[in-house]
Amino acid sequence: MNDDIEKVLYSKEDIVRVSQKLGKQITQDYEGKNPLVVCILKGAILFMSDIVREIDTYCELDFMDVSSYGNAQVSSGSVKIIKDLDVSVEDRHVLIIEDIIDTGRTLRTLVDLFEHRNAKSVKICTLLDKKERRVEGVTPDYVGFDVPNEFVVGYGLDFLGHYRNLPYVGVLKPKIYADN
Ligand code: 5GP
Ligand code: MG
Ligand code: MG
Repeated sequence: MNDDIEKVLYSKEDIVRVSQKLGKQITQDYEGKNPLVVCILKGAILFMSDIVREIDTYCELDFMDVSSYGNAQVSSGSVKIIKDLDVSVEDRHVLIIEDIIDTGRTLRTLVDLFEHRNAKSVKICTLLDKKERRVEGVTPDYVGFDVPNEFVVGYGLDFLGHYRNLPYVGVLKPKIYADN
C-alpha cells in the first residue's frame, strides 16, 4: 500500500503537532460553551480523534455521514445525507470537523443546514484546505494545512475506499489512477 504513494505531504507527527495548536485555540474559543463537535464521516475520523484529545473543555461529539462524490474524483455538486446527527443542533455551538475542503460544496450545504436548524453558531475545522478549487464561499475557522491542488489520500482520505488507514497524507502515483 505504501508503494502506491508518490510523496508524503504531512506525517503523523506533523498532524499531531498541528492538532495540538488548533486544539488550544478551540479550547480558548469554546470555554464554557459546551460545543457540539461534529465529525464528517468517514474522512475526518482520524483527524477528529486527534483534535478532540486536545480540546480541554466540556464538549459533546456527534457524527454525520454525507456523500458528494460517490466513488468519482469530481464533485457531483449535490450532497446527500447518509447518516444524520443524533443530537439536535438547536441553540448549540457547532464545530464541524472535516478532512478536506475542496470545492466547498459539502460544507456550504452543512453550514446552511445547521443554521436552518437554528444552531447558535457554526464553525469549521479542517485538516486540509485546497483553496484553489473553491467554488462556494466557504472559509474555515481552523485549518491544519493549505494543500496544493493534487488528489491526496491517507489519514482518513480515500481513493476508491482504500488508503484511509495510512498514518500520513500523501499523493498517489499516477499509475494508480491509470489502472482504475
Ligand atoms: P467539496 O464538497 O469541498 O468539493 O469536497 C469535500 C469532500 O471531497 C471531502 O470531504 C473529501 O471526501 C473529498 N475530496 C476532495 N478533495 C479530495 C482529495 O484530494 N482527496 C480525497 N481523498 N478526497 C477529496
Ligand atoms: Mg470529507
Ligand atoms: Mg471520498
